Amino acid sequence: MNLQEVKNLAKDFLLETYAPADVAFVKGEGCKLYDMEGREYIDFASGIGVCSVGYAHPVYTQALSEQIHSLLHTSNLFFNPTQALLAQKLVELSGYDMQVFFANSGAEANEGAIKLARKYAQRDSNRYKIITLQSSFHGRTLATLTATGQDKLHPNYYAPYPEGFVVAQDLKQIYKLIDNQTCAVMIELIQGEGGIYALPKEEVQKLYAYLQERDVLLIVDEVQSGIYRSGELFASNLYGIEPDIITTAKGLGGGVPIGAVLSKHKNIFVAGDHGSTFGGNYLSSRAGISVLEILSNLHTSKSLQSTIALFHKYLDQTLEQYPQYFCQKVGLGLMVGLQAVSEEVQKLIISESLKNGLVILRSGKNVVRFLPPLTISEKEIKEGFAKLYETLKSI
Ligand SMILES: *Cc1c(COP(=O)(O)O)cnc(C)c1O
Repeated sequence: MNLQEVKNLAKDFLLETYAPADVAFVKGEGCKLYDMEGREYIDFASGIGVCSVGYAHPVYTQALSEQIHSLLHTSNLFFNPTQALLAQKLVELSGYDMQVFFANSGAEANEGAIKLARKYAQRDSNRYKIITLQSSFHGRTLATLTATGQDKLHPNYYAPYPEGFVVAQDLKQIYKLIDNQTCAVMIELIQGEGGIYALPKEEVQKLYAYLQERDVLLIVDEVQSGIYRSGELFASNLYGIEPDIITTAKGLGGGVPIGAVLSKHKNIFVAGDHGSTFGGNYLSSRAGISVLEILSNLHTSKSLQSTIALFHKYLDQTLEQYPQYFCQKVGLGLMVGLQAVSEEVQKLIISESLKNGLVILRSGKNVVRFLPPLTISEKEIKEGFAKLYETLKSI
């Protein structure tokens, strides 16, 4: 098959929900991707933060290959040692005292968090409302879409939307919106789709203390920022808070779908309250364990920190050399962006970079987003920025 044939098939047989770029990748190695014509690309996107250990990582590949030769799935009607071990590893690495529920995606993890928060509050009150932030992104299911603070994602043809979600313009407005029906506040510490905006640490700590006093739960959506993307296992670690609930997904399975809800409130759900057929099956749990092993080693050896420092050095240099295109650096760790001077420039840089063999992403209105695999090498970073400079010189 060539690209045109793929496009024809997709047009005929897929519901149109995406607007894919003019390329199909068929192979990956390290942090490089190869398209159908054999062209090589440096990947600064990792499938939107999913391929956290890059492509064909030998340790990860070995673990998954062992697993597929043995057992993929038994359902949650039976104990699953691999799932239990992943939960233990995730909690221990987090430094928090929590329990875990496994789902299959970010939206599904957030659904679980919403149900958990409501059940928690209903023990002794009728509170059910959840406050979220403007420009947030929490998923595509009806509840998580309603929680998402972006009007453009709420067309009338999906109405009615579920009740009980309130969007605050900013952190300060959250205090004003809390009433005797509020059960939780759900935020991303670094807004992934909303422009790689990192919330100010002190304001988050203040909000956290305020919510704790009032028994309003803080749910931190770490679907994008989690699993060492920020430099720590969770951005919550970096912010020095201990959220009531953390959700995560994207980077956890390294490409195998898995989501997780971590809760410090331990006995809220009872059997039958929530569930998932696939959640945390042998394949995804084994993937999660392998990803955590690889990334926690990079974290302990400080090589993740060196990668982050190098990447930021290049970003700072880009900002300095191309003030005609970029106005500021945003984000934390390897969840970073360069804010372009306009949406037009942003789009041009992304499309021209792809033609030059560099995969980068958009975020918000005008941010060029970088989510490289966390295993990216010095050489690959250097090559990627060389391609970016080539693009910037040519446009
Ligand atoms: C991607 C994302 C989601 C949705 O995850 P899916 O796996 O697509 O359902 C939710 N929240 C945040 C912060 C995300 O970045």
